[in-house]
Amino acid sequence: MCGVIGYVGGKQAAPLMLDALEKLEYRGYDSSGIAVCGASGIQLAKRKGRLSVLRACTHDGADLPGCTGIGHTRWATHGEPSDVNAHPHLSRSGKVALVHNGIIENYAELREFLAERGYTFISDTDTEIAVQLIDYFYRGDPVHAVRETVNMLVGAFSLSIIFADYPDRMIAVRKDSPLVIGVGENENFIASDIPALLTHTRDIIRLGEYEMAVIDAHNIVVFDRFGEKVKKEIQHVTWDAGAAEKGGYPHFMLKEIMEEPEAIRNTVHPRIHTGDIELEIQHIPEAAFKTLDRIFIVACGSAYHVGVVGKGYIEKFARVPVTVELASEFRYNDPIITTRTLTVIISQSGETIDTLLALREAKARGSHILSIVNVVGSSIANESEDVLYTWAGPEIAVATTKAYSTQLTMLYLLALKLGALRGNVSPSEMETYIKVLEDLPAKIDGLLGERELLQRLAAKYFSSKDIFFIGRNLDYALALEGSLKLKEISYIHSEAYAAGELKHGTISLIEPGTLAVALCTYAPLLDKMVSNIREVKARGATVIALCQAGAQDVAAVADHVIEVPAGDWLVMPSLSIVPLQLFAYYMALAKGCDIDKPRNLAKSVTVE
Ligand code: GLU
Repeated sequence: MCGVIGYVGGKQAAPLMLDALEKLEYRGYDSSGIAVCGASGIQLAKRKGRLSVLRACTHDGADLPGCTGIGHTRWATHGEPSDVNAHPHLSRSGKVALVHNGIIENYAELREFLAERGYTFISDTDTEIAVQLIDYFYRGDPVHAVRETVNMLVGAFSLSIIFADYPDRMIAVRKDSPLVIGVGENENFIASDIPALLTHTRDIIRLGEYEMAVIDAHNIVVFDRFGEKVKKEIQHVTWDAGAAEKGGYPHFMLKEIMEEPEAIRNTVHPRIHTGDIELEIQHIPEAAFKTLDRIFIVACGSAYHVGVVGKGYIEKFARVPVTVELASEFRYNDPIITTRTLTVIISQSGETIDTLLALREAKARGSHILSIVNVVGSSIANESEDVLYTWAGPEIAVATTKAYSTQLTMLYLLALKLGALRGNVSPSEMETYIKVLEDLPAKIDGLLGERELLQRLAAKYFSSKDIFFIGRNLDYALALEGSLKLKEISYIHSEAYAAGELKHGTISLIEPGTLAVALCTYAPLLDKMVSNIREVKARGATVIALCQAGAQDVAAVADHVIEVPAGDWLVMPSLSIVPLQLFAYYMALAKGCDIDKPRNLAKSVTVE
């Protein structure tokens, strides 16, 4: 995920684009760049780091004359954040410059295609392939060259392109990644998102899938993927600038929950190849996965809870013992590690200091290190033997939601892959599970459409003092995260308990009116959960049960029921977490809490 901007008109493009990119920095901020078409061809400036670095080195854009330009603020997916990998990318001929938001999934194949035709590459990005392909097809007709290129791309992309031969024109095209056109007076714009445009115009055109726009200062012509002209409607935006940054949502947290289907799709899709999972693990030898004596999953907070779910998956599919440890404890526990041990490190930011220090400890003791990280080029990524990136895009709200969900899907992929490598998952089982994973985003989409129930429940229970989350097996792991989410943002005290453990002590805390959230999606233990619900109800608790659609035994005993679509156990945690996150969100909203920046917390914890 990153921010794209484009300008064509009568003003100097560079300073204007830098201001606009500032409004898009929430979409990515590891590097940035601009390219301008002037009298002497295309001029480029790009820098690793925050936008302020680019500002300083271009004197706020003054160094780049020219009234047509494209710009980008990057959230790296392919290749570390660096000057070279920053966008825009320039074609071999120097005649085409391009910025990209998304992931080109078949970039390796296309790279080979171009290499056979004499092209070399200077960056590690998937994006550079697109600009060289345009160069390859370009014979003087930009539209033709872009269309031929787009026809070859697999994946998600929104592209903005300028051509040295046409200094007063830009081209925009998109599939799956967002792009809007801003309609001005004697000037027009391209942007990933509306906030970048609001100081210039409130009239926008939304580009549809595979639509291509040819834009100059006075005209915007849009074509469909077959080259037919499309008549587009101009929409007038009435939001204020603050709301626009959140895509119209009141909080980043809600926006990020709503982005979960896309984030999961981006994380899963590029790793599925003809019925198999390809994780591109390059340094840990395949043989090592077959002879593992033990796996540690080491993480903090929500990422630790992901690990608790992951343990269930890995032990089921790969039949290797897994120990999940809190990073802050692990390094002081004198962990028993051999050269046949794999340590899986999970961190959204890749900078969590407890986790980083645990990584170093495991490494020093001879363990293989595989990390699951969201931020490309972060410290944990750099110090790991191999990295599996989640492609959730930047997460702004302090309480993690989409990063948690993508980490979870990454662990499914890892568990299935390990299972296959170790001969426990057959090719046909693999195909079945892959299908289940591919169907997951659509099911989450469905759940997101049913937010009203959660809102109503929150309105009823937001003044609760203590809430218990109970569940068994994978539902217990989910209870941990549901409870943490609620605590983090609503400041309501809550506890997560293995439902069978309650009677060994904690049930003494249940009194008339205590709210219990009972997670009952794990089908093999459904009867036991129904008994546990009866136990707390007998002591006066009110129960909200979360279960698979149609679980009538649960509905018969609970006070309220939240349903997730019935289906394979594999994805139940990914489904259940959505209502739990929304429940926490609406509880905090009802209490009037500062949802995106809860008290005492920071997004990336870089102190021990
Ligand atoms: N895949 C591209 C890169 O890594 C674009 C990333 C993005 O959309 O954030 O440079």
